[in-house]
Amino acid sequence: MPAMTKDIDMTQNPNAQTQAWQQLDAAHHLHPFTDNGALNAKGSRVISHADGVYIHTPEGDAILDGMAGLWCVNMGYGRTELVQAATEQLNTLPYYNLFFQCTHPPATELAAQLTSLLPDHLNRVFFTGSGSECNDTVVRMVRHYWASQGQPKRKAIISRHNAYHGSTMAGASLGGMKPMHAQGGLPIPDIHHIDQPYHFGEGQGMDANEFGLERARQLEAKILELGPENVAAFIGEPVQGAGGVIIPPETYWPEVQRICRQYDILLISDEVICGFGRLGHWLGCEHFGVKPDLVCMAKGITSGYVPLGAVAVGDRVAQGLLDNGGDFNHGFTYSGHPVACAVASANLKLMADEKVLERINEHTAPYLQRRWAELADHPLVGEARGLGMVAALELVADKASGKRFDENVGAGTVCRDFCIESGLVMRAVGDTMIISPPLIITEAEIDELIARARRSLDLTWQKLV
Ligand code: PLP
Repeated sequence: MPAMTKDIDMTQNPNAQTQAWQQLDAAHHLHPFTDNGALNAKGSRVISHADGVYIHTPEGDAILDGMAGLWCVNMGYGRTELVQAATEQLNTLPYYNLFFQCTHPPATELAAQLTSLLPDHLNRVFFTGSGSECNDTVVRMVRHYWASQGQPKRKAIISRHNAYHGSTMAGASLGGMKPMHAQGGLPIPDIHHIDQPYHFGEGQGMDANEFGLERARQLEAKILELGPENVAAFIGEPVQGAGGVIIPPETYWPEVQRICRQYDILLISDEVICGFGRLGHWLGCEHFGVKPDLVCMAKGITSGYVPLGAVAVGDRVAQGLLDNGGDFNHGFTYSGHPVACAVASANLKLMADEKVLERINEHTAPYLQRRWAELADHPLVGEARGLGMVAALELVADKASGKRFDENVGAGTVCRDFCIESGLVMRAVGDTMIISPPLIITEAEIDELIARARRSLDLTWQKLV
């Protein structure tokens, strides 16, 4: 067994502690979404502490976290208000469940607090432990709802290729990630996919708004193919995050909503990334003028400090379930964990106290988007796009034609590695570079982010061209 950290003589080798962690990791840990064999040969990157918008290595390197962890640390690292809320709740009631007609103050208060922030028709909340669990919940809830309304054949759920809705069996099935479907026999039955509204990637040469309408109308075609009487719901992220920050043309969501209404299909907004300020609203769908029947939330709800998910249920579905649903045979041990609910409440209060939405809309997001757009002049960049506090760069081999690099070049991976070397976490989705920084990032920190991104683009350019 490799040395435990307490046994290490740091005076001989200042990196010894990190190396010991890497050895333990290689020997005992299987990482999510990772080729663990390849990682073991190279050694994991150890992140030992964090504050504000920076994560730190044990050696003291500060890396600007352009992804807010996994799109979640919205209020930044080191917020003592959240630590205190968790500590107080751990001391008061560290655990109790919400099954068997029980509740506890943190879950009740958070449900009321959340519904007061959300659009008027969302008045009920079902808690889970994660975004994936929210999506499993909505699959079961919409099917149960339709059965309770005397329409048990309405089982089909329509989603999009390249969507990400989590990693459970239902979450990954709703998602449209081919490599995920290839493992484990997915999707599960009655999940269908249409094309995504990815203008740069799939609509070049076409007017963006025309393209948005064309992609939205694939939903209508799919509903008619399946038979409206068999379709339960459509699910979508307002902006596809993990798929590469795909911002739909303005025409897309209103047309999707019109189609859902015409065929009486429930509309589910997966707000796991877009919710809680990421697009400048409590919910991302508000930006697009969409009124969903159900909403999935996680990540930013606690700023990632502890795991929590929540499904907000619109009045129509909630009333149908209350009137005719009987038992909903679904729930998780950690549904509405009291510590997670207490942290979420403190996080929402902190967002309100610090006027985060106002600050984003009036200052931070316009500044970030203005500075980000400047990167469009780089020879590697085919498109720089963004909305609110997310943004993407499309790396291309030839700027004039928009031609991509050969897949084997791995331009995105090369750029991502130069980003880390330059002190910036920026994620690569194929050759699309994406950011989603903490919402509390300052203008000076945005300047630093842009400078580090540009340096990484320069290094990538020098290496590849
Ligand atoms: N939905 C969306 C839009 C996501 O981006 C994610 C995670 O990135 C999920 C669901 C799954 O959430 P979790 O990883 O908490 O299960």
